[in-house]
Amino acid sequence: MLSEILEVKPETPSVTSFKYTKPANFSYSPGQFTNIELDIADCDERCNKRNFSLVSSPTDDYLMFATRVGASRFKQTTETLTNGNQFHLTGPFGRFILNEDERVGAVMLSGGIGITPLHSMIKYATYKQLPKPITLIYSNSTADDIPFKKDLDEYATQNKHFQAHYTVTNTADTPPSGGWTGRKGRIDETMIQELIPNWQICEFYVCGPAQMVIEIKKLLVNMGLDVEKLKSELFTGY
Ligand SMILES: Cc1cc2nc3c(=O)[nH]c(=O)nc-3n(C[C@H](O)[C@H](O)[C@H](O)COP(=O)(O)OP(=O)(O)OC[C@H]3O[C@@H](n4cnc5c(N)ncnc54)[C@H](O)[C@@H]3O)c2cc1C
Repeated sequence: MLSEILEVKPETPSVTSFKYTKPANFSYSPGQFTNIELDIADCDERCNKRNFSLVSSPTDDYLMFATRVGASRFKQTTETLTNGNQFHLTGPFGRFILNEDERVGAVMLSGGIGITPLHSMIKYATYKQLPKPITLIYSNSTADDIPFKKDLDEYATQNKHFQAHYTVTNTADTPPSGGWTGRKGRIDETMIQELIPNWQICEFYVCGPAQMVIEIKKLLVNMGLDVEKLKSELFTGY
């Protein structure tokens, strides 16, 4: 399928979002991803294609992906994309999708760029006014680099069933040296138990860089969470 860039936007110092046209008859569930193929000369099979979760909600009339700046040829090429550039995509793919059953609370645990499919789910639930309890705990290393924080805070004001909690892990950003006065440190058992007292009956959605997803899954299993209540998407390459 052919698509076209509609808007390129720096979201934070290290993350850029790309809005692109939604091909005719393209439909997807919140949380799914597409494979993007860029026109890069002298590329092998891997060099010019990457999977990116859809940041947009199925209710939007456009698609969006977001990514971190990087050194690979693919990432360097994304830096040159501008409005009107065309590229091929395939998809949608993936089973990391929102269970819309409002009787089941969702706990979303994310690190950094792993917010992308969760953003789609939260935006969709907010737009559809789903009476589904959703709690996000979103971990980032620095306070000035929390992708989509403004949007997430807005969803939290529009959607009384959604709560967003942030934690920052770089101690240079927290007092006495830094100005971040919110939650700090990595997502751990104490944080989950404090923020979601009924966590045992919720479904968990975990997404982020590979190491983070592996560690959080281990933590949840050790806490005694039923693995059937655990959905995860692991971003390779970080
Ligand atoms: C289902 C799924 C959904 C995903 N969704 C997203 C998403 O929404 N957003 C997102 O950003 N990513 C997402 N990813 C990951 C994405 O597909 C890429 O793998 C990731 O962005 C890394 O790509 P890269 O081109 O930077 O690194 P890769 O080419 O994959 O290289 C891996 C590592 O090598 C380093 N490297 C590569 N080339 C060079 C070079 N020339 N010099 C120095 N270092 C180099 C890179 O910095 C990187 O750390 C997803 C992955 C999956 C499987």
